[in-house]
Amino acid sequence: MDYALQRRNTLQALKRPQRSLDGTDVCDADPLLIRAALHHGEESAVHCPICAAPRLTNLNYVFGDQLGQYSGRIRSTPELNEMENEYGEFTVRVVEVCTDCGWNHMIASYLLGDGVTRRPPRRQQTVEDIYG
Ligand SMILES: [Zn+2]
Repeated sequence: MDYALQRRNTLQALKRPQRSLDGTDVCDADPLLIRAALHHGEESAVHCPICAAPRLTNLNYVFGDQLGQYSGRIRSTPELNEMENEYGEFTVRVVEVCTDCGWNHMIASYLLGDGVTRRPPRRQQTVEDIYG
């Protein structure tokens, strides 16, 4: 799927007189998403396409059966590099977020892993369970 194209289409739809985005507001970032971007986000070199904030923030979400309870969590790029050798296969979804106006969009989705299937880790309580 071409996420860049999808992003352009969304932005083009915004420029039309009536917003034809199925009634969804594109600047609808969940407060939790904004908070995650402020705390865990990695600066991107891209300007916000909506409010022209100088920098967007990228979040890497990881998903996969082998991740067990860690599926759906945010991971930094250095953490992804480590995980690549610790898990057989998982999906990374990169979401760009503007912490100023709430614009958010998935800009990439890709697979990582070393191809060796492993059992999910045993469930443990983590700081993230307590603090989100
Ligand atoms: Zn913005």
